[in-house]
Amino acid sequence: MQVPLLDLKAQYVTLRDELRKVIDEVCDSQSFILGPRVQAFEAHAAAYCGTKHAVGLSSGTDALLAALMALEVGHGDAVVTSPYTFFATAGSIVRLGAVPLFADIDPVTFNLNPVQVRCVLESPPGRFRERRLKVLMPVHLYGQCADMDPLTELAREFECQVVEDAAQAIGAEYPSRGGVKKAGAMGQIGCFSFFPSKNLGGFGDGGMAVTDDATLNEKLRALRVHGATVTYSHHLVGANFRLDALQAAVLDVKLTYLDSWHAARQAHAAYYNRAFQGTPVATPPAIFAGHALTHPHIYNQYVIRAPRRDQVREQLSAAGIGCAIYYPTPLHLQECFRSLGYRAGDFPESEKAARETLALPVYPELTEPMMRQVVDTVLGAL
Ligand SMILES: *Cc1c(COP(=O)(O)O)cnc(C)c1O
Repeated sequence: MQVPLLDLKAQYVTLRDELRKVIDEVCDSQSFILGPRVQAFEAHAAAYCGTKHAVGLSSGTDALLAALMALEVGHGDAVVTSPYTFFATAGSIVRLGAVPLFADIDPVTFNLNPVQVRCVLESPPGRFRERRLKVLMPVHLYGQCADMDPLTELAREFECQVVEDAAQAIGAEYPSRGGVKKAGAMGQIGCFSFFPSKNLGGFGDGGMAVTDDATLNEKLRALRVHGATVTYSHHLVGANFRLDALQAAVLDVKLTYLDSWHAARQAHAAYYNRAFQGTPVATPPAIFAGHALTHPHIYNQYVIRAPRRDQVREQLSAAGIGCAIYYPTPLHLQECFRSLGYRAGDFPESEKAARETLALPVYPELTEPMMRQVVDTVLGAL
């Protein structure tokens, strides 16, 4: 039995009629950029995330760029973030002329370790000493929130803003001291991606930034239309960061199913956790599960650590089972960041994770026989 890593067709067949209808409506309107569809989706998405404002944008990468631009990050600035994430997290920082200041991850959650962040803030590596610390950018990797209370505390102490890279974590909850919060609603700005493989995926690229701050909301809205608040009147230099009406229409339909998809992914994760118990496979714990949350982890990826990971990966591929390594090279070791001066060994937990992790299929439509097959193949390889 073939088991793909992700099967978007399995989701599409269940929503085909509903989606075709709203797509037809957009086609009939011939109104494709921003407009009422985007406004409606923004209102629903803000309510879902528990923020006052949501701004539809062209991608998750552009959401990160727009967020950093809204906070006036530029040359001479530093942004503290994780080296174990998708490229866009650090790429957006460098694109604006700022530098990413990496701190190592927690080996259990793969998220920024607040203790490591403190070390970097208290004694930044020499070459970064002259930089102004502007932003702390935690990533909620794989669909579980970074430990935001201590990170927020650090941002307060070191007087910087917080931008959450919540691209993989829409709807994930965090038990903060102030009550349960959703991913993206804890920093000054939260950024999301609607790339098709995210839990809420569009029919192409799309993204969003959320905020409670009215000024930042206005700024993000201006930045996505080249900085214009009134057409052809530009107070800022922005870019074309707009969300399409077609994407908003699709996403607005899919948003109503999102919690049920999260629940299915959680059930699949629980199945794997049980099946791998007592084996050499290390399963990904939902560390906030004890706090009576509905979605302590949304499993955009279900990521194991396995001894002889590459052997397991080869056997899965040979058996027609999809799997992937997120991410094989930590960002501090990427060729294009060589000038930052980081070296192998600087972030041992990130480097170890890059050697040991493997994402298994966890999409909502998986069946039990499929998961059984995945488990048997993984264990057979060990
Ligand atoms: C997907 C992703 C992004 C980028 O989103 P795009 O929509 O592909 O531009 C940024 N950060 C993380 C952690 C992601 O997973």
